[in-house]
Amino acid sequence: MSDNKPSITFFSTDSIECPVCGKLFRVEKMRHGRGRLVSKEITDELRRVYEPTQAYGEVIPIHYSITVCPDCYYAAYQNDFLSLKAPEKESLLGKRKDRKDTIHEIFPDLDYIKPRREKEAAASYYLAMVSYELLNPDKAPTIKQGLSALRAAWIFSDMHRKFPNDNYDYLSTVFYKKAAYLYNSALRKEFAGKERVSETPGLGPDVDKNYGFDGVLYLAALLLFRYSDYSNQEEKIEILRNAKSTVARIVGMGKKMKSKPTVILENARDLYNEIGDYIKAYEAENGTTENQA
Ligand SMILES: [Zn+2]
Repeated sequence: MSDNKPSITFFSTDSIECPVCGKLFRVEKMRHGRGRLVSKEITDELRRVYEPTQAYGEVIPIHYSITVCPDCYYAAYQNDFLSLKAPEKESLLGKRKDRKDTIHEIFPDLDYIKPRREKEAAASYYLAMVSYELLNPDKAPTIKQGLSALRAAWIFSDMHRKFPNDNYDYLSTVFYKKAAYLYNSALRKEFAGKERVSETPGLGPDVDKNYGFDGVLYLAALLLFRYSDYSNQEEKIEILRNAKSTVARIVGMGKKMKSKPTVILENARDLYNEIGDYIKAYEAENGTTENQA
């Protein structure tokens, strides 16, 4: 973080008590106001790009979405942080050492008492992922893990651009793959009635706009297409056929389209065509055709 810039965050006056370990701490929050954020384009991963300003430098709002206990490293989105049931607290307390040891292998000197640096931000999403693993299905933990993996991948890519020799691109890819798995796993749970993804607030994926369940459908397919590993080409084509129908749910319904944001429709249409072309190229090469059910 630059030394001469005014702070873009502040710490809450009142402390909160960590529901897992009892530590009292003040929560870091972002200041909102004129000139701090200059929005630019949105990427095809639905990430908002912000232009650094002279006064504040680079400001990335997703750095501050996760509340992290500075002592036991329990981490969750702000709205979930305090709402733990007894068995959840117990499991989170039991995994306290695991959480700390694992993240310290990547970042040995994390500090959640001082203003967050990029590494605390990236680590906060990893810590949220392992914390949500222990939370009840009523908190829709799988999609929150997926969203956390995606944002971790974004922050690691930012770090790679600044420090190209530190292997952050490797970490970014690892988290993109996790996100691909988790988004699709969350969708399966939604369709099986196990977790209510579609009713979850704050699906983002960035903080500037919530694309809701359409965003989840779109990202599930995009991440699968771009980042997933496959054991062979036939498996990949089979999975991509499903991904294509997932995207079709967003773009397919002509009359409903008007109510949807242009960004998601345009991106979904592009992705639908891109996956379609990929499948066609495979079929042309192998003399097979898509089995239209
Ligand atoms: Zn704690």
